[in-house]
Amino acid sequence: MAGRSRKRLLPDWIGEKYTRKIETEDTSKCSHETRVQVPNASAGQTTDSTRKTAKAQLIKCSMSEKHELTASEIISSSMEFLHFKGSIIYSFNSADCTLLCEDILSMLPCAAHGEKMHVGFDVEWPVTFKKGSTESKVALIQMCISTDKCYLFHLSPMQKLPCALKTLIFHDNIIKCGINIEADFWKLGRDFGISVVDVIHKSVKDLGKLANAKLKSAERWSLDGLTRNVLRKKLDKNTDIRCGNWDNYPLSEDQKQYAADDVYACLLLANHLMQG
Ligand code: ZN
Repeated sequence: MAGRSRKRLLPDWIGEKYTRKIETEDTSKCSHETRVQVPNASAGQTTDSTRKTAKAQLIKCSMSEKHELTASEIISSSMEFLHFKGSIIYSFNSADCTLLCEDILSMLPCAAHGEKMHVGFDVEWPVTFKKGSTESKVALIQMCISTDKCYLFHLSPMQKLPCALKTLIFHDNIIKCGINIEADFWKLGRDFGISVVDVIHKSVKDLGKLANAKLKSAERWSLDGLTRNVLRKKLDKNTDIRCGNWDNYPLSEDQKQYAADDVYACLLLANHLMQG
């Protein structure tokens, strides 16, 4: 380690912003040693768990006190939130849902040429914490089809899964990309009594598996973790919203934004991970 510059002790993902800040503090304020060290993190190859466990040590000169910041705290403080800023198209009755699904289906690229449409995909349902209580049905299906269009299909007020929506989400040429997406489809299958073996086999893509293949890692990625690692942005995982009541109609603006942000991240991650 001797002779290594301070900057080189940091893995790539810490970001230059922070490095610069430390260097400025170090040289301008005092002669004490300012150290940011992330053990076990080999440069350029960092996994989610390394990030969580790695401690960055920062000795603040001005206070003569030793503060320990976790690497993820350092990264979080300088990271921007990922927010979807395009149109959020919210439907809550079967007729509107059907029209929208038919519209999306009409945009499908030419199947004859083997072209497929990749979309960010996720579902939400109210989490029940009571022991023994039955799990709620999927309340919302979210789909981001482009960087400026997110569809939220609110199933709770519809009571059922409209045929056109089923056709859309089961379509062979629409590749649904999400985190732990197979589990989402198994749940849809249980909740609505439909077979999902085929769709899981043919047209879903798990972003966690894709990331592990690309990054040569073996992580159990969360959407936020993968977004931080790959896109260098964070998701606003507000617990009140995440664990809120997704059955309530209409969804609040915060719920809509949260739901759209998730699938937007999925689409960006899919685009990013499939490059090259
Ligand atoms: Zn979600």
